[in-house]
Amino acid sequence: MFNSLWSRTDLRRLIVLLTVMSIMVTLVNTIYATYRVQRELLVSNTLESNRVYAAKLAASTEIFFRNAQQQLAYSAQEVANRFEDNALLDAEAERLRAQTDSFNSVAIVDSDGVVRAVSPPMLRLKGRQLDSPSLRQALKLRKPLISQPFLSSANNMLVLISHPVINRQGRYLGYVSGSLYLKRKSILSELLAEQYYRDGSYLYVVDDTHHILYDSDVSRIGKVTRRQFDTGAAAFGGDNAQGSMAWTEGNEHELVGYARVPSAGWTIVAVRGTDATLKPMEGLILKVIGNSAPWLVITLLFAWQFARLIAQPLWQLARRAGEMNEPAVSNNIKTIKSWYFEASQLKKAMLIGIDLLHQRIGSLVSEVLRDPLTGLSNRRGLYNALESLRQSSKRFTVIALDIDHFKRVNDLFGHDVGDTVIRNVAAQLRHCSREADIVCRSGGEEFLLLLPEMTMEASIDVAERIRRHIAECEISVVGHITVSVGVASSPAGNDDIPSVLKLADDALYQAKREGRNRVVSLSAATVIPLED
Ligand code: GH3
Ligand code: MG
Ligand code: MG
Repeated sequence: MFNSLWSRTDLRRLIVLLTVMSIMVTLVNTIYATYRVQRELLVSNTLESNRVYAAKLAASTEIFFRNAQQQLAYSAQEVANRFEDNALLDAEAERLRAQTDSFNSVAIVDSDGVVRAVSPPMLRLKGRQLDSPSLRQALKLRKPLISQPFLSSANNMLVLISHPVINRQGRYLGYVSGSLYLKRKSILSELLAEQYYRDGSYLYVVDDTHHILYDSDVSRIGKVTRRQFDTGAAAFGGDNAQGSMAWTEGNEHELVGYARVPSAGWTIVAVRGTDATLKPMEGLILKVIGNSAPWLVITLLFAWQFARLIAQPLWQLARRAGEMNEPAVSNNIKTIKSWYFEASQLKKAMLIGIDLLHQRIGSLVSEVLRDPLTGLSNRRGLYNALESLRQSSKRFTVIALDIDHFKRVNDLFGHDVGDTVIRNVAAQLRHCSREADIVCRSGGEEFLLLLPEMTMEASIDVAERIRRHIAECEISVVGHITVSVGVASSPAGNDDIPSVLKLADDALYQAKREGRNRVVSLSAATVIPLED
């Protein structure tokens, strides 16, 4: 079943199948490679742009903090030597807050933690002693500081940037501080939100304790980030650290870029979901297929035509192989255009093979139709000749001939000499007949001649000439022999050939009876004996 299926599949289909398979494999490969390359490119581009984004924001934030520290330092210097002057402190606090947009509020605090001046004044903190870990830290450390986020008494989430106030004598008097509200509009939120915000990406800021200081989702501010950045912790360590990483937590795959803000010890993190990053890939395969489709069709059409060109000579040769015994097959094969090596070699081989086959068949046929002793036609050859005479409706006469007393020749001189005599008679018959006549050894020492288009009279003459020739011819060892001959003519239309042969045989028989070495002719029941 399988075999017969394949034997019915022609070369053209196989070539097309091969082409289609090659194209498909190439296409799948191309799509896969394109997909991989695009994916890696998108991921690495996103990681890099997140890193650059975070680094840019970190740099801006760092500059902001430096400026803020400078402003605080200036104010601290302004109030250092007149710290007891409340009006001055009020004015300075007001100037500092109003002149720049850096702080949400400004406070000047003495070394006991009592607020000496505050802006805006509605905070009503003035004169109160403040207590919070960050404030205590500022008092304790007595140096420029950016606090950790904390809840103020007014329930604001804020960070405090402070600068110590030290007078000329080097005495610590307190600090000047500016606050940044984390959940409200502040210079910080403006700085961060000001940056372009991309689809599927977001930004947040964490401090060293993983508290979220800023997030595009305000509700998360103050919370501890769910990302522990265990692996990133080392990278987060350095003051100027920045980098990127693919981050996977549960089902979430994110591409993270981060950068440190050294003066605050903050880390700015830009995140983009891997899904959002890879969204443009969705239509990619369809796009590749869509782009390749016209070429695919053109290639297939080309392959189809080219396959036909390749397969045609072989197909034609294969078809002719089934007709090897037909006479026209050689000419048919010669017209096949074998334009490439294998086909032309096959064509040559087939032509040679057919030529040999026909020669062989020809020689076999002639062997079958010929008598090996004399080279004359045998009975089968005779029948063929009779058949073609019948078909062509040519009139003909028959001469039947038998050697007289041949047994004696055999008996006296042996069988081999008998054969020589037979051959000798055959030669005489050939000699006395025309090209068109059919000379045949019909058995032992009996012969038949078919003489197409010859009258009875002429045939009788021929028969007589033959008889005389043989009688006169001297054969070595044997000497002279004679033959008896019967002549008959075919009826009109050649419709009853056996009866002509029978008639010739009868005439021969009659010649024997009448004493041998003579010609007897019979034509439609008429017997014309011819005496020597
Ligand atoms: P008749 O005059 O009546 O023809 O007498 P005949 O002796 O020729 O008698 P017949 O024709 O009956 O005998 C034919 C003989 O020819 C018989 C056979 O031994 C011999 N013969 C037949 N075929 C061959 C052959 O191929 N070679 C030889 N040497 N002898 C043959
Ligand atoms: Mg005989
Ligand atoms: Mg005889």
